Amino acid sequence: PRASRVPHARESLRVSFEFFPPKTEEMEKTLWESVERLAPLRPDFVSVTYGAGGSTRERTHATVKRILDETALTPAAHLTCVAATRDEVDDVVREYLAAGVRHIVALRGDPVAGIGTAYAPHPGGYVNAADLVGGIKRLAEAEKTDIEVSVSAYPERHPESPSDAVDLDMLAAKVDAGASRAITQFFFDNDLYLRYLDRVRARGIDIPIVPGILPVQNFKLARAFAGKAGASIPGWLADRFDGLDDDPSTRKLIAAAVAAEQVLDLVDRGVTEFHFYTMNRADLVYAVCHLLGLRPPATVPTAAAEAAA
Ligand code: FAD
Repeated sequence: PRASRVPHARESLRVSFEFFPPKTEEMEKTLWESVERLAPLRPDFVSVTYGAGGSTRERTHATVKRILDETALTPAAHLTCVAATRDEVDDVVREYLAAGVRHIVALRGDPVAGIGTAYAPHPGGYVNAADLVGGIKRLAEAEKTDIEVSVSAYPERHPESPSDAVDLDMLAAKVDAGASRAITQFFFDNDLYLRYLDRVRARGIDIPIVPGILPVQNFKLARAFAGKAGASIPGWLADRFDGLDDDPSTRKLIAAAVAAEQVLDLVDRGVTEFHFYTMNRADLVYAVCHLLGLRPPATVPTAAAEAAA
């Protein structure tokens, strides 16, 4: 069944890629090599994260601006409301609007004291992600422009969430405030995502809930991050990476196989949109997209190239 689904996927599949703002010149080089490698796959958009507590405000902006100026890609800027007044957050939104950015991924953010500590909104700030979505929409309206706002979704519940119902209430509030797409926290068990999707639809939420896919470049890191993010690591996944800590080349092959299996299974089960957490690396994501039938546009051979062939 897969072989017959992939050509269909080529026509109808949509992907987006997530990057983080680089800290050093070397990381900047890696990021841009990845952006250039992935750009010909024509993603719907590429998003750039916002560091904890707004720590990357300038770097996120600079990365988004460079994507706008130097590529044909559509950037989406992540923005959080943690540890900032409304005015400070509004200024960031206005700067993005002025620069021509038309897509923001709006998040509450994690407590400054670290994940696991209690979150307290800034006294003069947006109280949560839904409040932030509303603020962004109002600012765009005041500037007589439209802005697309995406938000987070948690197939395994946000770690702070007391119940599935509270979690879905928050997602519904974000949609009511104007969010038109949700991107999920990464997950490895597709059943968890599909069951979550059923709950979301039963709650009357009808925006796209795009699965966030994390190709596992580094299993140890992914496991540590999953623990904080409330994402589970299935035993079979740990088993696949077992014994490979000092064997990066086999790890990479396994990572490609795992991500391919996950994404092809989702395609088989009707999913047509994917958001990839690239970790600023292109190779695994490029390979998985290739499996999905995504290809760079065919280039017209030049006379010189034909003569050389
Ligand atoms: P919300 O949607 O506001 O809340 C998430 C859930 O937490 C709710 O569903 C609810 O169940 C629970 N909750 C929240 N507040 C309360 C409350 N007062 N009482 C009870 N339950 C509550 N972080 C960054 O710093 N920068 C980024 O660029 C970034 N990008 C992300 C992109 C994606 C796709 C995802 C999934 C996460 C991202 N994060 C990012 C992480 C995010 O900031 C954290 O998960 C944060 O803890 C929650 O932010 P949120 O917008 O998801 O919160």
